Amino acid sequence: MPEISHADLAISASSKLTRKRLLIDGQQVEPLSGRYFDVLNPATGEIIAVVAEADASDIDRAVRAARRALEGPWGRMRAADRGLVLQRFAQLLEDHAQELIALESLDTGKPLAAVQRQDLPAAIDTLRYYAGWADKINGQVIPARHDALTYTVREPIGVVGAIVPWNFPLMIGMWKIAPALACGCTIVLKPAEITPLSALRIGELALEAGLPPGTLNIVPGFGKTAGRAMVDHPDIDKITFTGSPTVGREILAGAAGNLKRVTLELGGKSANVIFDDADLDSATKAAASGIFFNSGQVCSAGSRILAHASVYDEVVERMTARAKAIRVGDPTQSGTTMGPIVSELQMKRVLDYVDIGTKEGATVTTGGTRIGDRGYFVAPTVFANVEHEMRISQEEIFGPVVSIVRFFDEADAISKANGTKYSLAAGVWSSDIGRVQRFAKQVKAGTVWINTYGYTDVRLPWGGSRDSGFGREHGDAALENFTEPKAVWMNLNV
Ligand code: NAD
Repeated sequence: MPEISHADLAISASSKLTRKRLLIDGQQVEPLSGRYFDVLNPATGEIIAVVAEADASDIDRAVRAARRALEGPWGRMRAADRGLVLQRFAQLLEDHAQELIALESLDTGKPLAAVQRQDLPAAIDTLRYYAGWADKINGQVIPARHDALTYTVREPIGVVGAIVPWNFPLMIGMWKIAPALACGCTIVLKPAEITPLSALRIGELALEAGLPPGTLNIVPGFGKTAGRAMVDHPDIDKITFTGSPTVGREILAGAAGNLKRVTLELGGKSANVIFDDADLDSATKAAASGIFFNSGQVCSAGSRILAHASVYDEVVERMTARAKAIRVGDPTQSGTTMGPIVSELQMKRVLDYVDIGTKEGATVTTGGTRIGDRGYFVAPTVFANVEHEMRISQEEIFGPVVSIVRFFDEADAISKANGTKYSLAAGVWSSDIGRVQRFAKQVKAGTVWINTYGYTDVRLPWGGSRDSGFGREHGDAALENFTEPKAVWMNLNV
């Protein structure tokens, strides 16, 4: 990544109103309905862009273009050449780093420094990683009969519908785009309606990198119309979705009608478990970033801290101090460590949960309120005296709110860690290596962090089970999502 000063980023992030059309078949096109919707800067509530709204007819145009590219230039391109296109695409993201960081920050409210450190480098890393895979997706020779040559090839699954959430639009978008393209698929991508800007821009850069028209189509629009139309479309072969369990269920029900393949990355209520022999300074430092990073809008946020009864009060005290030290404010300021919540609606949901927790009898030790009346800022919030069964300990809040629950022994810790409907991630802090290993074995989670919290890397599988969804992104697991094995039998006696 190039070095870019914070001052330069801040200049790029001074918002100017833009008007963006759909990106279909390599062209920027008007939506057939002629409708546009407003996109707001969550730090100010101001309109920063008006964006074309795709409906079912636009989705159909995009799917047709994707099918043509699949059967045409992209599908016919040599795998190694596809890898080179992805490498060029990654280089263009790097070359446009300043613009992309500013755009993502404006659209989501993330601090510029966070996008510079996390979102954009992760997106580029993902693209480069899968660029390397493009010509390494092999079949196998599997001897079945002595008079036949029997082997498999892995073929692209076809046209992929990617439905992306608003919390990491660029990074999660790339978690879908990069492996799908490496596998030779073509894509219709619908960004979340509140954060469509980075997807539209990277769609343009992909064309500049040499991606044939129609290979990556970007169709902003609403879930109930554009998203639903993707699920219903008979010519989309696979839906890859990241978002809420509610919408995940709707997608699964819709896909049952046409038997599309579906991968679901859904929510979480991850436990971060602190034993009495843990290094409390490191544990609470990581626990604070585990919940307050990205204003808590992270599927794997450590939104439940389980603290051993003998260190409970100290954990509450340290977490309260750490929450108070967070600098919430203007995402373009260099000292800001937490920006706003992404929208007014989400801010209200988060504040409603603060009311729910208070009524349930938990104690707010810090935060619990909106900050100011411009933009959608919520103070980092710590709930103490939380009982495991309370709603704030069971339901995903998706904001900067942590619930601290007591546990009494190892069995109690594991039972509480596993005691929600989610199974995405978990953390454990202890100096006893046997204990952390027993925990890692027994916890129901797709990822376990031991004496650390929150890392992801495209090389390691990512995903969950139960209400956290199914299927895995990242690594070679994602290649399974976007390819289909074909068995070939050749008679040797002709
Ligand atoms: P959401 O489910 O409301 O929306 C996600 C996407 O689905 C958006 O693009 C939306 O337009 C679309 N959508 C909405 N209704 C639809 C429908 N009926 N048919 C098709 N598409 C539809 O989620 P969100 O509010 O954008 O994101 C927050 C949720 O995502 C949280 O629950 C969070 O935990 C989850 N999430 C999970 C992961 C993960 O990797 N497991 C990562 C990020 C976010």
